[in-house]
Amino acid sequence: TAPDVPELTLRAVTVRFAGLLALDAVGFTVAPGTIHAVIGPNGAGKSTCFNVLSGVYRAERGSVRLGAHDLTRLPPHRIAGLGLARTFQNIVLTRGTVADNLMLGRHVLTRSGFAATALRLPRVVREQRRHRERAREIAEFLHLGAVFDTSVALLPYGMRKRVEMARALCMEPRVLLLDEPVAGMNAEERAETAEAIASIRASLGISIVLVEHDMGLVMRIADAVTVLDFGRRIASGTPAEVRRDPAVIRAYLGA
Ligand code: ADP
Ligand code: MG
Repeated sequence: TAPDVPELTLRAVTVRFAGLLALDAVGFTVAPGTIHAVIGPNGAGKSTCFNVLSGVYRAERGSVRLGAHDLTRLPPHRIAGLGLARTFQNIVLTRGTVADNLMLGRHVLTRSGFAATALRLPRVVREQRRHRERAREIAEFLHLGAVFDTSVALLPYGMRKRVEMARALCMEPRVLLLDEPVAGMNAEERAETAEAIASIRASLGISIVLVEHDMGLVMRIADAVTVLDFGRRIASGTPAEVRRDPAVIRAYLGA
C-alpha cells in the first residue's frame, strides 16, 4: 500500500534575514521514493531550507511544489496536511509516554471534532483505537515497541530522536523531512538510525529529505545529494559524484 508520492521541487528559493542571504536562488528536485540529502557546513542554509519546505519561513522569491500543489505560501498546518512531515534539529517532544507523543502525530489525521471527542461517541472511540494500533505498529517498526508506554523523559537520547521520527511517520506522510537525525548520537545509535531511515524508504516507499552533517551516513543511504555553502547550491548528484567534487572538498576543508 505505497502512498501516492509526488515529486517535491524547490525552484530558485531565496530567503534573507536582515540583509543576510540565507538561501540564494536554491533549487533541487526530490524524486518520488528517494532519499535526498542536503549537506553543507554550519550556516550553509540547510535548516532554512527545511523551514521553507515546511512553511515556517516564507521564500522571498522562488517556489516550492509538491506534485500539483504550490506550497510556497501555505501555512505549516496546510503543508503538513498535504503530506509533508518533519522533525527538528533539536528534539521537540511533549511530556508523557511514547504513545502520547505518537498520538499527537495521529492528531492531524483525526476527523472528529472537539465536541465528538469530548462526548466519547462510539465512532470516536473506535477511531482512537485504530490510531493507537497504528501508532504501536509504527513504534515497533522503529524498535520502540518495548517502550511504547514509557515516559519519553526516561529514554536515552538516541531513542528520543527515534520517537520524533516515529511521531512524524504517524502523520502518514508522503515526504518525511529529517533535520540532522543522528546529531549527538553515539556510533551504535547512528547505525540503528541509518538502518531505520533506509527501512522507512524501503517499506513505506515515501520520499525522505535528509539534512545531515555526518557525511558517512549520507554516503551510505542517500540516492541524491544537494550541497549548500553560504546559501548557494555548489554541487548536486549522487553521493559518489559530490564526494569527489572539488567545490565540495573546498567547502568542507574551509579552503
Ligand atoms: P545550517 O542549518 O546549514 O547550519 P541555517 O539554515 O540554520 O544553516 O542558517 C543559515 C544562515 O541563516 C546562518 O547564517 C544563520 O545564522 C542565518 N539564520 C538562520 N535562521 C535565522 C533567523 N531566524 N534569523 C536570522 N538569521 C538566521
Ligand atoms: Mg541546521
